Amino acid sequence: MKTTRRATLAAGFGACLLPALPALAAAPPRGGQVAGWYRFRLGAFECTVISDGAITLAPPFPTFGAGVATEAEVTAALRRAFLPEDRLPTAINCLVVNTGSQLILLDAGVGAQPVFGPGTGRLVESLVAAGIQPAEVDLVAFTHAHPDHAWGIADAAGNSVFPNARYAMSSTDFDTWTNEALLSQAEPIRGFVQGTRAVLLPRRDRFTMLAVNAQVAPGIRAVPTPGHTPGHVAFHLESEGRRLLVLGDIANHHVLALSRPDWPFGFDSDPAQAAATRRRTLDMAATDRLQVLGYHFPWPGLGHVETSGQGFAFVPTPWQWG
Ligand SMILES: [Zn+2]
Repeated sequence: MKTTRRATLAAGFGACLLPALPALAAAPPRGGQVAGWYRFRLGAFECTVISDGAITLAPPFPTFGAGVATEAEVTAALRRAFLPEDRLPTAINCLVVNTGSQLILLDAGVGAQPVFGPGTGRLVESLVAAGIQPAEVDLVAFTHAHPDHAWGIADAAGNSVFPNARYAMSSTDFDTWTNEALLSQAEPIRGFVQGTRAVLLPRRDRFTMLAVNAQVAPGIRAVPTPGHTPGHVAFHLESEGRRLLVLGDIANHHVLALSRPDWPFGFDSDPAQAAATRRRTLDMAATDRLQVLGYHFPWPGLGHVETSGQGFAFVPTPWQWG
């Protein structure tokens, strides 16, 4: 007689749980994850969060808190939030904004180079699953030039993933991260600059260099938020009175960066400036009850910010159907 898993489990509960375990091998884990896009409306804008996958940073300390916090403080913050204490799993949440006349992608993921591990590079798969072909994208605008935000515009052969797109980035970040002089710096800066030069420089004639508070498109404005990188911008979206602030990497973790915005983050170019920008921006979001999208916050990264303790707390927006 064929033994079903249910029968085996029932027998196991009747006697002892352990004998039931080998039978579970008949149903091996399938692996993978389906969530690749999340659609919501912002006034007249149809927005879609697009996943490029995930990055796991480790160890949590001193990636966060170097020179300011102790390892025990960082561990305690993670423990309070019921999160792993030995690593920081983070999402990669890009955003497509359909303004009605343009498809605009805000940040483009890591691309073909697994510089942050094997969990990345899902952007195109997620876009297509969401009904968006890469050739339809009119504009790719970047919060900054780090690999996990900018390298996704080139495929493994160096060809353009978005063949019809123009690009927009702050001139400060474009110039900083393509600066040949930085190739003499230590890793990871040297590798970042080398890869970014290969991706950005061949496409320079398609770039618009964003001025301070430049309008990327009607209803989408680039807000200077320097520190994580010298030319980092957030994107302020507004349509029919609805607003959203796309944070980029102002805050890189929904617990550590919010609860202690003064804790430095290892990839910040200017940690003091980044901390000041982080606190100022999060304070504005909390005061104005502004919805935010965190690039590395838990999928799909949408929520609000409330003041809490010495800093802030992230309040996720519940999943919305239509
Ligand atoms: Zn990032």
